Amino acid sequence: MKILTTLLELRSARRTLPGPVGFVPTMGYLHAGHISLVQAARAECASVAASIFVNPTQFGPNEDLARYPRDLPRDLALLEAAGVDLVWTPKVEGMYPSGFQTWVEVEGLTRPLEGGTRPGHFRGVTTVVAKLFNAVGPDKAYFGQKDAQQAAVVRRMTKDLDFPIEIVVCPTLREADGLAMSSRNTFLNPEERQAATVLFLALSAAKSAYDSGEHAAEKLRALVREAVNAEPLARLQYVSCADYDTLEELEAVRGKSLLSMAAYVGKTRLIDNFVIG
Ligand code: AMP
Repeated sequence: MKILTTLLELRSARRTLPGPVGFVPTMGYLHAGHISLVQAARAECASVAASIFVNPTQFGPNEDLARYPRDLPRDLALLEAAGVDLVWTPKVEGMYPSGFQTWVEVEGLTRPLEGGTRPGHFRGVTTVVAKLFNAVGPDKAYFGQKDAQQAAVVRRMTKDLDFPIEIVVCPTLREADGLAMSSRNTFLNPEERQAATVLFLALSAAKSAYDSGEHAAEKLRALVREAVNAEPLARLQYVSCADYDTLEELEAVRGKSLLSMAAYVGKTRLIDNFVIG
């Protein structure tokens, strides 16, 4: 497995990779969810490239950039064991040298949900993903359904800017009790870790109501609110029942829809979602 830091090194290593090339961008502190993306890429592509970069521009001023968990040696061992051919670990100064002033921004899709509660977040995401795409030049790129809006925004950007890259979205991997795997779960103390299952339980309650015939979006949102309010360590930030493609809030669930939420458990902000309909 080649490990590269500068763009120059990456470009010359990239030229030696047999295609098609699958690409898995990450912020590191890898878990089985990330590795499932690598496995999907491994199954479909001749070569697999991954990146590890904690992208400062997608964190707000009061967010957890400084304490975002990092463990590069462990990440590299996991990627190597999963069969990755090339890992790019750019430095912040390499990505954003002084004088940097060009941004990639998707408009409508970034307004609700994560965009509504994390101003500037998606501008950072799309800018770094565009730069990663330009640098790596993959044929396919793999993203997790866990970050459903991110996947939708990246798909839109890829289409709008004519990147010749297929975006593949892979299912959310969960712990045994349903908690979606996330690098941020490491911030939870044992009590909070227990309480954090409330996201999965709340979405499950709404999903089973939907499966039993409740299609009124507000009823489904109310079930999520009720479940989260019953957990003293959790505080709901938003719940949404929206059209899967446009992310516009629904009155009634008819076609493919996204039931999504963000909640604080203690000081840790967690997100999760189910696809219904
Ligand atoms: P991150 O390192 O948090 O930026 O995540 C890198 C990629 O892994 C993104 O495409 C995420 O959506 C994906 N990912 C994160 N958690 C999971 C999970 N539990 N299951 C599947 N994919 C995930």
